[in-house]
Amino acid sequence: MDNCKEIQNMIDSFEHGNLSLKNEEAFTHHILNCNDCREEMEIYYIILYGLDDDNEKSIENSSYSEYLDAFDFTGLVEQKLKDSEARCLFLRQWSHFTRVRYLFVTAVMILTALLLIIIKFF
Ligand SMILES: [Zn+2]
Repeated sequence: MDNCKEIQNMIDSFEHGNLSLKNEEAFTHHILNCNDCREEMEIYYIILYGLDDDNEKSIENSSYSEYLDAFDFTGLVEQKLKDSEARCLFLRQWSHFTRVRYLFVTAVMILTALLLIIIKFF
């Protein structure tokens, strides 16, 4: 793997939701296929949650806290990546849909303008 260092530098941004859609897709795709980076990500979460004695800070997503309670960081990483994939897919479809709708609205506007011109001059 060529850009492992780059990917591993993105873990923190990923966790905080600061990656662009394109970067998040690349990130998730890479980590799913790269054991080194996946291990690195597990270590990241072990440090983030595992070493925190007063683990009172509420974890926003309860499906993640199950993994944390069991100290299953492999499972946690897998779940996070799966969620990320689903989110990226949704965003892709949504932006595709928005683009199609935008084209449709533009086409209707042009046709309306043409129609007005035709009515006015003929
Ligand atoms: Zn890697």
